[in-house]
Order: sequence, then structure tokens, then C-alpha cells
Amino acid sequence: MKKQFAVMGLGGFGESVARELMRLGHEVLGVDIDENKANQLADHLTQTVIADATDDSALKEMDLHRFDATLVAIGENIEASILCTMHLKSLHAKEVWVKAITPTHHKIAEKLGADRIFHPEYEMGLRVAQTMAHPNMLDY
Ligand code: ATP
Repeated sequence: MKKQFAVMGLGGFGESVARELMRLGHEVLGVDIDENKANQLADHLTQTVIADATDDSALKEMDLHRFDATLVAIGENIEASILCTMHLKSLHAKEVWVKAITPTHHKIAEKLGADRIFHPEYEMGLRVAQTMAHPNMLDY
């Protein structure tokens, strides 16, 4: 069944998640504060919006409570990630998934009620190590 997802921040991580969700047949709204990032993906996602994901009025206009899940893929700027997560929870976004980059970021996201928290670099590091140790296994 086709689902609707939103991705806040279209850096390397956000972009790969958004593109894969599209490839899997879902609808994806991509949001980035950087006009170039949003424009680059305009032809590849269902909709792209140039907006500051820490601006609650901009988020409100996106009706994010209608989406199956919203991913906060803003990493470097922890403050922006936290603010965005807080607003998404206040706006009753259904599932709020957050990319965290430090243990403190993780704890704050958890306190704010994030439904799932990822550490892509750490998790990918584990997978690569497992593949290096067991190169003949397709997916460890
Ligand atoms: P990645 O680790 O995914 O490659 P990155 O290191 O290139 O990302 P980040 O700082 O983590 O960059 O930001 C990811 C994306 O989020 C960038 O495209 C950036 O423009 C966008 N972004 C940063 N702050 C905001 C914001 N307040 N609102 C919307 N998008 C933002």
C-alpha cells in the first residue's frame, strides 16, 4: 500500500532515504532550507519545499499529521533537529523519526517523544565491520 512520508533535510542521508522511499512506490515530501538541495530533488520526489524546518508555522502548512511518518534528517545542526522534532510532536505528526549524531542529541530526541532514533554512521559502521569479518555472508 502506498504511504506518505516527509523528510526534513535533504543532505546525503535524507536524500538517500527519500529516493529509496520513492523507488519503493511511496509518496515523499522533501523539505530543505537550502534552495539548491530542494531544487535538485524536485524532479525525483513527489513534492519538495524550500523551508526552515524549525519554523512551526511553515511546518503547520504542510499538514504533517496526515503523513505516515516524518524523518528529521538534519544532523549537523543539533539545535535545528531538536526544534523541528519538538514542533512535529506538537503538530501531532504520526511517527517522528530522528537522525541523532551524539548521545545528548539522542537523549533530547527521546525526551521529546521521538518514535525512532537512528545513528546512521554508527549503525553503518557496525554493518561494515560485520561484512569485513564475514565477507561471504550477503547481509549479516
Ligand atoms: P548528511 O549527513 O545527511 O550528508 P550534511 O552533513 O550534508 O547531511 P546536515 O547539516 O546534516 O548536512 O543537514 C542535512 C540537510 O538539512 C542539509 O541539506 C541542510 O541544508 C538541511 N537543513 C539544515 N538545517 C535545516 C533547517 N533548519 N530546515 C530545513 N533543512 C535544513
